[in-house]
Amino acid sequence: MEQYWAQYIEILKQNGMSITGPRREVFMALYSFGLQTMTQLIARCTNSDRASVYRVVGALESIGVVSRISTGFRYKLELSDTFLPHHHHISCIHCGKNREIEQSRLEHLLAEIAENEDFTLTGHQVELSGLCRTCRKPS
Ligand SMILES: [Zn+2]
Ligand SMILES: [Zn+2]
Repeated sequence: MEQYWAQYIEILKQNGMSITGPRREVFMALYSFGLQTMTQLIARCTNSDRASVYRVVGALESIGVVSRISTGFRYKLELSDTFLPHHHHISCIHCGKNREIEQSRLEHLLAEIAENEDFTLTGHQVELSGLCRTCRKPS
């Protein structure tokens, strides 16, 4: 945690931002609870009002601290790859259930595709969506 915290402060500093109450609270909630909706995040940031949380999330997104993961027509938030091991999600378009996918073959394949295009891959975004087992069942 300490290492990530120091890194966070450093990124803020590089962008001319200082640590404030809401910036601390949003980061801690994302760090502690992982992937979550804006509503959950707001509920967890008990010392910051709704508008501050929105504002902080927007600012942190723009400096690459927070990632917005779209799950169908909604989205969830989490800390970026700077603070988490690189990973991908699969999410249910019906109930919003989310999990991380096994990705070693995917990483390989993407590197190979880039190589065929004569590119060195420096980043990618892959999010899978579908229907989970529960939602797939006929009612
Ligand atoms: Zn589902
Ligand atoms: Zn990947």
